Parts: sequence; C-alpha cells; structure tokens
Amino acid sequence: MVLYEKAPAKVNLLLDVLGKRTDGYHEVAMVMTTVDLFDRLEFHELKEDRIEVLLESRFVPSDERNLAYKAAAALKKKYGIKEGIQIKIEKSIPVSAGLGGGSSDAAAVLRGLNRLWSLNLSNDELADLGAGIGSDIPFCVHGRTALATGRGEKIQELPSPPPCWVVLAKLDIGVSSRTVFENLELDGIPHPNLERMLKAIEDKDFAGVCANLGNVLECVTLDLHPDVATLRKRMEQLGATGVLMSGSGPTIYGLVSQEAKAHRLYNGLRGFCDEVHVVRMLG
Ligand code: ATP
Repeated sequence: MVLYEKAPAKVNLLLDVLGKRTDGYHEVAMVMTTVDLFDRLEFHELKEDRIEVLLESRFVPSDERNLAYKAAAALKKKYGIKEGIQIKIEKSIPVSAGLGGGSSDAAAVLRGLNRLWSLNLSNDELADLGAGIGSDIPFCVHGRTALATGRGEKIQELPSPPPCWVVLAKLDIGVSSRTVFENLELDGIPHPNLERMLKAIEDKDFAGVCANLGNVLECVTLDLHPDVATLRKRMEQLGATGVLMSGSGPTIYGLVSQEAKAHRLYNGLRGFCDEVHVVRMLG
C-alpha cells in the first residue's frame, strides 16, 4: 500500500522567550500557524524490517539523523512494529529557514504511519511521542494555529487568524536555532504582547494581528546577519501590513490582506533575495 501526507511550513506570529530552564532549554511562548507551502511525503511498505528515507537535498541527511527517520523509528520502537518503511520526501520548504520543515516532516510521518499501521493513536499521543524528538513537533502534529508554551511542546489550539496572504522572503543563508538561542541576551529585551495577539486572533482583527507580531530572536539574527535586517526593511518599505522574522530566521515574512498586494510585494522582492513565495495562511 502507498500512502501520502503533506507537511506544511509554519510561521511564528509571536515568539517570546521567558527564561532559561535548568534542563538547558528556554521557556517560550509562541503563537504559530501554518501556510500552504508543503513538503510531500510518500510511504511505501517494505518487506524487510528497516527504515529508508529518500530525499534529494544537499543540506538534509537521509540517514538516522533525519527527523522523519527518527519519527518512524520512535513509532516502531514504542509499538513493536516489525514492518519496514520507505519514506520519500519531496522538499519544498527551505531548510534551516525558521519555517519548521524538519519538524513538519516528522509530524507527517507520525500521522502517516499511524494510518498505515492502523495504530489509532490520538493527536495528543502522537504529539507526546514527537516531543521526545523535537520541541516543535507537537505543534506540527496538531497542524492548526496554536499557542505553544513550555519548551514549545505544550499546545493549546487557537481560533484561525483572519485569512490573509503571506509573502515569505529568504536569503541564501541557513541559520542554526542553537546559535541564535546561545546569542540571546535576555536582560532588558522588549517582550511582545501575547494577550493582545490572542485577542486580535480571537476577534479576527487583521490590523491587530499585524500590529502585535513580535519575535525576540529577531534582534539576534538581524545582528548576526545585517542583510536580513535590510531585507526586513525592504519588506516594510514595499508596504506589507505586518512584517516579522519566523522562528530563528532567516526567513522574513510580510502579511497582506489582498492577493494583488502580495504579488506586488513578490515583484519588489524578486532579485533582491534568493527565494520568495506567495502563500496563504491556512489557519
Ligand atoms: P529549527 O528552527 O527547528 O531549526 P528550521 O525550520 O529552521 O527549524 P529545518 O529546515 O527544520 O530548520 O532544519 C533544521 C535542521 O534539521 C537542519 O540542520 C537539517 O539538516 C535537519 N533536518 C533533519 N531532518 C530534516 C528534514 N526532514 N527536513 C529538513 N531538515 C531536517
């Protein structure tokens, strides 16, 4: 049997860091949502008991370091599954971009193999398993707009934000989340206003969502990569209603309510950066 799953990219509408924990992780509060830029995964059953990940990417390993591999291995181990699986990943989500591609692939593996192997696990059970592999995986398992707290693994689903267009712009650099977190100086940083963001989402208030976008990691990545700061300015100058960096970057996104405006932004950014995508917020 062959089965398919789509793995959407995520963007952070808000990313706050509240402190450093004793386990080495940071305590975060993140509002995340998904956009219609997808990796596609194809699952083929194998007779032999092994996991095979196939993908064409210079930047992503296909061995046991791949998050999709780890997700399949975790399911096999926990539920004693002896069947083998081949997972083909067609990547469209830029890698190390702050768009959560690896976590989303892992979540898609958990969802897909749950169906293929008729495990009947709930999203919460899959999310718990995913949390052991990566902090953003529980959000990706649920796949809806959510508030993520703790180290990012505690998920509270939120209503869908007002529908809008998202213009993703990325320079040809990868940013490691670890480096960004290591360089984050928590003393005296301005924090985004979570309550106002939640209210704006609840009210489907597009202007309110745009006004309350915030990411405490922006200052670190923009400092490390001044070109990203320039790209952010350009996104603002081109008239995006809201502008923010997603995750630890370097992707900068702009929010607009009209498709024509999204395409104007696209035209203004093409040639200025290496990758631009016009996508819809999925909610
Ligand atoms: P994060 O903020 O978690 O770093 P990101 O969106 O910035 O996420 P990803 O594209 O998920 O970055 O990749 C981060 C790292 O994970 C890269 O070093 C990559 O090699 C590794 N990785 C492992 N599996 C995958 C996968 N299936 N897809 C993408 N990256 C993967």
